[in-house]
Amino acid sequence: MPLNPQRPIDELKELRALTSDENGAQRVAWTDTWLKARDWFRTKWQDLPVEQHYDAAGNNYITLKGESEKALLLGSHLDSVPNGGWLDGALGMLAGLEVLRRFAEQYNGRPPVTIRLVDWADEEGARFGRSLLGSSAFAGTHSIAADRIRTDRYGIPLEDALRRCGVEIDRFPEAEHERKNAAAYLELHIEQGPVLERMNLPLAVVLGTKGVERHAITFHGQEAHSGSTPMNVRHDALAAAAKLALEIRPIARKHSDAVCTMGSVKTFPGIVTAVVGRCETTLDQRDLDAGILATMYQEAHAASERFAKEEGCTVEWSRIWSIEPVPFHPTLVQFCQQSIEETAGTSHSLPSGPLHDAAEVSRAGIPTVMLFVQSLGGISHNKIEDTREKHLALAVTAFDKLAAKTAAWITQTA
Ligand SMILES: [Zn+2]
Repeated sequence: MPLNPQRPIDELKELRALTSDENGAQRVAWTDTWLKARDWFRTKWQDLPVEQHYDAAGNNYITLKGESEKALLLGSHLDSVPNGGWLDGALGMLAGLEVLRRFAEQYNGRPPVTIRLVDWADEEGARFGRSLLGSSAFAGTHSIAADRIRTDRYGIPLEDALRRCGVEIDRFPEAEHERKNAAAYLELHIEQGPVLERMNLPLAVVLGTKGVERHAITFHGQEAHSGSTPMNVRHDALAAAAKLALEIRPIARKHSDAVCTMGSVKTFPGIVTAVVGRCETTLDQRDLDAGILATMYQEAHAASERFAKEEGCTVEWSRIWSIEPVPFHPTLVQFCQQSIEETAGTSHSLPSGPLHDAAEVSRAGIPTVMLFVQSLGGISHNKIEDTREKHLALAVTAFDKLAAKTAAWITQTA
């Protein structure tokens, strides 16, 4: 049977019926509903000429052996956030399976290169606050020491939750063995943002995942009585922070894809009758270009010092977390562009703001690209997350073309 783009859509609806409730998808990693989703997935590939195994980090590999051991990896995740949508992650898994079926059929169970479908464990990090857990074990960027102390909101340690699912945290480094023979990695995902819908385009090639600079910024002023302190002698920490909150917008707008967000503000003493003596804020800056990211950071830093001075305050920065931008592989970006043009006529390219497992795989040195399909309203991590069925079908078709081109490229370069 040739590729059937409708089949993954029907299967996604089946999965939704099985693992969602009135609030949305409940396939949180390391829970019973997640295991149920994985059991269900098993019934979908059981009749194919494939081998299955879990690696040491709980990633699920379904392998269609080819003439060459060089492998094309297709991946995504079956786990969801609590009250999540029906497409985030699951689309990539079911589309990947359809492509694997097509390879099996076309080449009588033995394609020129090995095709491996991988369901990364705990992409979302919804329960323990650690995203990309399985793929970071694959990439070797994972820290056992940091994860051992993680607990969920009921105090259950990550280590115990994993053990219940047959995964030992100490053996995580063994997951790196799966990188052997991995020649390329492809991932189809919903956009989770509003760009494609606003451009009225179904599909886009993803150029890479944006780097992130995340900082805690604290302004120190002077607490004072709100009635007795004249305006011209105040050291108002909130006033300095508020100026910065406005200034990060022009800093970001100088660059087409950059974003800056001040997502949290706490004031102390935080009462109606006192000038704010201390204001704690956070800043999250993202761009695909490391140079732009560095410039935005420097500009925000300089602005904060200027505003602190203007308000008679001081300011202090501390890095919460950062990650380098991860640009995807130029040849695969080109293949993806061609596949989209052949399928939908017009192609667009954009960076991904959210992180994906593909970033970890790419960081491990494996040629990688992602394909995005439009999200209605740009909404995700929500039960109303949706994509038009005709766009889903186009996405499956374009993803299959991308896989065919990439497999041919692996054969040539092997
Ligand atoms: Zn996802």
